Amino acid sequence: MTSPHAGGRPALTQTITEPSRSTPVYGEFDIVVVGGGPAGLTAAAAAARTGYSVLLLERYGFLGGAGTAGGLSTFCGLHAKVYGEHRRVIHGLADELLDRLAKLDGLSRPHLTINDGIQAQAFDISSYKIAADELVTSSGAGLLFHTFAVGAVLAAEDTIDAVLIESKSGRAAVRGRIFIDATGDGDLAAWARAPYEKSPSLHGMLYPSLMFRINGVDAATAGAAPWRTVEKLMLDAERAGTHSFPRKKPIVRPQRNPLEWRANLTQLSNADGSAIDGTDADQLTRGELQGRQQALDAFTFIRDNTPGFGDSYIVDLAPQIGIRETRRIIGAYQLTEDDVLGCADFADTIGVNGWPVESHVAGGVEFRWQRGENPRGFNQLPFRMILPQRIANLYVIGRCASMTHDAQSAARVTGPCFAMGEAAGTAAGLALGANVSCADVDVAELQQRLERAGAYLGREV
Ligand SMILES: Cc1cc2nc3c(=O)[nH]c(=O)nc-3n(C[C@H](O)[C@H](O)[C@H](O)COP(=O)(O)OP(=O)(O)OC[C@H]3O[C@@H](n4cnc5c(N)ncnc54)[C@H](O)[C@@H]3O)c2cc1C
Repeated sequence: MTSPHAGGRPALTQTITEPSRSTPVYGEFDIVVVGGGPAGLTAAAAAARTGYSVLLLERYGFLGGAGTAGGLSTFCGLHAKVYGEHRRVIHGLADELLDRLAKLDGLSRPHLTINDGIQAQAFDISSYKIAADELVTSSGAGLLFHTFAVGAVLAAEDTIDAVLIESKSGRAAVRGRIFIDATGDGDLAAWARAPYEKSPSLHGMLYPSLMFRINGVDAATAGAAPWRTVEKLMLDAERAGTHSFPRKKPIVRPQRNPLEWRANLTQLSNADGSAIDGTDADQLTRGELQGRQQALDAFTFIRDNTPGFGDSYIVDLAPQIGIRETRRIIGAYQLTEDDVLGCADFADTIGVNGWPVESHVAGGVEFRWQRGENPRGFNQLPFRMILPQRIANLYVIGRCASMTHDAQSAARVTGPCFAMGEAAGTAAGLALGANVSCADVDVAELQQRLERAGAYLGREV
């Protein structure tokens, strides 16, 4: 038996040769979207609205990505602080999704976060699953759940012919004319050999966290802003030497009903202190086990020390650990930290990012804000950041789009992912209509279509 080595990955010294086989074709679609997180679900809905046939593949039985499977329950990046005023800057399909969430009674009002520097907006995870189903299915896009994309077949050096899938139904191929990689990890881009980079897992890659929710909190006893109490109690315990928390900057906040709280305070690492790599199954396994243990330890501390939490319990551990960063493609343009902090503009804007750099470093979280006294508070996102090199019929969106490590620490949050998704889906329809490659769509036309659909590109403040 091979046993995992220190880094968690077994030494893969042996191979076997599988018998060759013919793979059935599940279907042929104009546009195939892989991954149903915020980037993928908006991409599929936008693509279907252009009138082409669309299939969205998702490994779980629900949409939302980290927002649901990772248990986030908060939208970040929908808002920016624009010249001192808190404002929604992500619109278009996001408006429709939020309307659906509100109708399901699953959306809280925006709240201030990160030292009251910016707004975020909490949601109910079950409602998000339903609202996302409704948005995608009403657009006409097809959905295939419980399906893992596992490889790509190229028709030519620069063209993907099919994505290989595996599920309870077996192995199959899904052919497409245009593909959109919304896997978060750039899986399809990597299989198609589009250039990408990964931060070193030691002193580089952002650390993952396992999110959990606490129920049964006595809100009256907990007081008006008990999240500040939790942070202070944890810091005091660290200083007194009674406890040591893997992450020193907890985010612990009440849900809309303050009976329930969400907790984002774990930090998952390998034995050598490096970040768990979300593209390595052994490391993911270690992360799940460690995450549950850290959640239990942190919860026990909170329950035993925080007024109002005495009768509380963990109501939910997220279905999977939340992965913040793995592969990022090196596309036609790489968004940089300077672009984020300097509120950069781009002629080929497809949306905006107002979130600051949020860097999950060893032991804590560091924030870096847009520069200046009263900055505009958002940067534009260029179309070129979703264009991979080498592959002509692929867009890559969401947290694996073309960004440096530091820029990704900002623009990976949900709001900009919605914007990238809507842009990619719309662009795919335009590319097919004009019979051009993904890179050659008419950007002015794309921008007009996005603005007509209600998206905000940051062109007028
Ligand atoms: C712990 C944690 C806390 C966070 N907190 C917040 C927060 O409070 N607010 C916020 O806005 N953002 C937060 N973020 C960031 C944000 O949620 C993500 O960066 C965002 O969800 C990225 O969207 P995405 O669509 O690119 O990828 P993801 O959300 O990762 O979605 C990718 C989807 O693709 C599917 N998939 C992946 N590979 C395959 C495959 N091979 N085949 C089929 N399906 C596949 C996955 O199942 C998933 O549904 C947090 C992230 C983490 C990890």
